[in-house]
Amino acid sequence: MTTEFEKVFGAAPTGVWAAPGRVNLIGEHTDYNDGFVLPIALRQVVLATARRRDDGRLRLYSAQGDGRVTDVLVADLKPGAVAGWAAYPAAGVWALNESGHQVGGADLYFDSDVPSGGGLSSSAALECSVLAAYRDLYELDLDQRQSALIAQRGENDFVGVPCGSMDQMASACCTEGAALFLDTRDLAQRQVPFDLAARGLRLLVIDTRVKHDLGDGAYAALRAGCERAAALLDLPALRELTADRLPEALDRLPAELGPLVRHVVTENARVLQAVALLDAEDFAALGPVLTAGHASLRDDYGVSCPETDLAVAVAVEAGALGARMTGGGFGGSIIALVPEERTSPVAAAVEAAFAAAGYLAPRSFTATACAGSRRVG
Ligand code: ADP
Ligand code: MG
Repeated sequence: MTTEFEKVFGAAPTGVWAAPGRVNLIGEHTDYNDGFVLPIALRQVVLATARRRDDGRLRLYSAQGDGRVTDVLVADLKPGAVAGWAAYPAAGVWALNESGHQVGGADLYFDSDVPSGGGLSSSAALECSVLAAYRDLYELDLDQRQSALIAQRGENDFVGVPCGSMDQMASACCTEGAALFLDTRDLAQRQVPFDLAARGLRLLVIDTRVKHDLGDGAYAALRAGCERAAALLDLPALRELTADRLPEALDRLPAELGPLVRHVVTENARVLQAVALLDAEDFAALGPVLTAGHASLRDDYGVSCPETDLAVAVAVEAGALGARMTGGGFGGSIIALVPEERTSPVAAAVEAAFAAAGYLAPRSFTATACAGSRRVG
């Protein structure tokens, strides 16, 4: 890593920082509605090898990028100033300054094993690796939560993606062996023990390797639909709507907004249910909650796709306790909760079904709950 850095930047780095991708167990499209989420951090990380520069230049290179060094003055950073992949790390630096932290330049070399665009949040991992490096390089007084919020601000206002806070909060705040139960309204969080191996279970992640193009515009439209429904219901956010008041709310809303609201309300309830089941170590009951979450994303929210629907259906048929898409949707990955001995058969069954359907070969791995962003070298 040091050698690669020196080849690109002609000097030795100061250190290496890691920020993980994530899978979300349940609570999808709830974060921008002030709701609940329950992610775990993956062992797959973006590594940022870095050194500080005191001449105001920000130089960025990625082993998975375009083979070019992006070289920009921190003082010149503004939304639209950096195109392509480098906008994500530049966004973190811009957002630090916007948030009142006076920071200058750096050389940053990225190398990642988080699949990009696979619904595992490589973008937040990239941003959070920058935040972790800058915090140490510039001795900033920032905790993990503040770093996550600054990274989110960068993705929202510099890159222009209207994401909620889950991905950055997961990449920064998750801890080893636990799922992060996060209330995105006030950012209250609790680390919920998540040790599947001790119970003879595995979390299988299956990356369908498809990303449907309609995703970006559709995400913004869904978010706008939720905000319109909340306004019509005189609520600050859909989070405030509880399940018992759902029927009455649905009566008051135009037909096209009803399913969106139903998903958000039932999904928030599923997160609370999942946390209670994890606390009780009742994994057999957790499975159907995950699968119900997928049905809601497919039938009410409309963000699944034939590939994720097939993977979920086949995984459950082949012995998973439950399965669902994870991430924003329109492709990406699914998770399946499986008894250890069913791990390979479930992965093989999905592979066979994809081959038969003429889809790309999916990629599978098992996930355990890992730590959030940190210095590693
Ligand atoms: P996800 O966050 O689910 O992986 P996104 O579309 O939000 O998908 O982010 C993917 C984008 O992040 C890529 O198109 C690329 O611009 C950037 N990205 C992610 N990982 C890397 C990397 N290792 N090197 C360069 N750019 C990356
Ligand atoms: Mg992303």
